[in-house]
Amino acid sequence: MTETQTADAIVIGAGVIGSAVALELARQGRNVVCIDKLGGAGFGSTSSSSAVIRFTYSTKAGVAMAWEGMHYWKNWAAHLDLARSGGLTEFKHTGMLTIFSDGVDDAPFLTRYAEVGIPHEVLTGPEIAERWPALDVGRYGPPKRLEDDSFWDEATDQLPSACFDEMAGFVSDPMLAAQNLADAARASGASFRFSSEIVAIRKADGRVQGVDLADGSTIDAPVVVNVAGPHSFKINTMAGVVEGMNVVPKPMRREVYVAPAPPELDWDSNGIMIGDIDLGTYNRPERGGNIVIGGVEPECDPLEWIDEPDDASMVLDEDEFQLHVLRVARRVTGMGVPPHKRGVVGVYDASDDWTPIYDRSDLDGFYMAIGSSGNQFKNAPIAGRCMAELIRAVENGHDHDNDPVVVKGQHTGLDINLGTFSRNRSLDGGGPTNVLG
Ligand SMILES: Cc1cc2nc3c(=O)[nH]c(=O)nc-3n(C[C@H](O)[C@H](O)[C@H](O)COP(=O)(O)OP(=O)(O)OC[C@H]3O[C@@H](n4cnc5c(N)ncnc54)[C@H](O)[C@@H]3O)c2cc1C
Repeated sequence: MTETQTADAIVIGAGVIGSAVALELARQGRNVVCIDKLGGAGFGSTSSSSAVIRFTYSTKAGVAMAWEGMHYWKNWAAHLDLARSGGLTEFKHTGMLTIFSDGVDDAPFLTRYAEVGIPHEVLTGPEIAERWPALDVGRYGPPKRLEDDSFWDEATDQLPSACFDEMAGFVSDPMLAAQNLADAARASGASFRFSSEIVAIRKADGRVQGVDLADGSTIDAPVVVNVAGPHSFKINTMAGVVEGMNVVPKPMRREVYVAPAPPELDWDSNGIMIGDIDLGTYNRPERGGNIVIGGVEPECDPLEWIDEPDDASMVLDEDEFQLHVLRVARRVTGMGVPPHKRGVVGVYDASDDWTPIYDRSDLDGFYMAIGSSGNQFKNAPIAGRCMAELIRAVENGHDHDNDPVVVKGQHTGLDINLGTFSRNRSLDGGGPTNVLG
């Protein structure tokens, strides 16, 4: 006999964004069921996140969302409103230095910062060297591969300037962040079903009806939200909504590396995050005197698109490890390449314009929080709220496609225009080409 459950809303995926959506829908008083095929919250791509919290985005809504989002992490316990204060992930304020390079103009970023009101300093090369003597302020860009002889060339010049955001930082444990949100969602009445795979989306008369699970059980609900991370395209295919989308995210394999910082720098206490477009990396301190290193997709680095997220090789590439550590070693003096490679492999759900989709679909009742493009961990709590507001508006008859829902940030009072994250947005205008989004 097959089991049938009913709910007001089904959230597909219990990553950091799915758990945040479940929380906000439950806080609206809906009976929410969140389903994940893995064994717990945050076990998917969230688990490999670098969890960097920064504000450098290419759209005003993106910057506003990240700035509003930072306040959730800063007030984490209050946001969760759980009866306990232990076992919560931490937001570590380190500040972030963003080093622009030839071809990536800092002016539009600084204009958006001014519009949104993000405190920042623009520092010259000598000012950077004075504040962080361990940093080499040479200009090396554009980024190069190790096989390129010019990789080792001396700096062409000093960095003209860089932007320092003192409020940026990182979240100490991204998987725990998802679990914290799932606990808060449960406390608001949501239920979670783990080790349960969704294999079909049911629909009738242009409206979603519910989902079928691999164990033969079904759940009926008038609202279904696709938050399946790198598997989002499969869920959209099940729902038959891909044809109606202008932006279709796809899975991309990514490696993130860990290497020791020079011990004399005491990077645990003194380390900052660096978005180094000049050298093609981002990096942040990691406990134990380490540095987490990722890439920012410079033109010379190949992108690894994959068909099946579950088949992504979990083995780190030795050459890529060396390349990325050596790029950081040009900036952080005294840094060396360790004898053994360390890091994690993750999969982005990447859009062509590195911008997420927070939207409805052409199928009534079926919504999407997808295409997080390696840059939406930071926005998970505010994305949960935006999705809940969007769903409430659309279910009450609002025509979001023609009159986009605007969500007011409860911490900053900023307007976040969700039209920016439409599935129907144009890709003609160029737009961002890397994980900065
Ligand atoms: C290597 C890496 C580094 C990153 N660094 C940063 C960073 O520094 N800062 C930042 O802001 N963002 C970063 N990101 C992005 C950020 O981590 C993601 O945007 C975020 O974690 C995505 O959360 P999610 O809940 O959408 O997806 P996921 O965490 O992937 O969750 C999706 C869930 O859906 C489940 N699922 C899929 N299909 C089904 C199905 N058929 N049935 C049931 N369940 C299903 C999966 O099991 C999974 O648990 C990074 C991402 C990666 C991969």
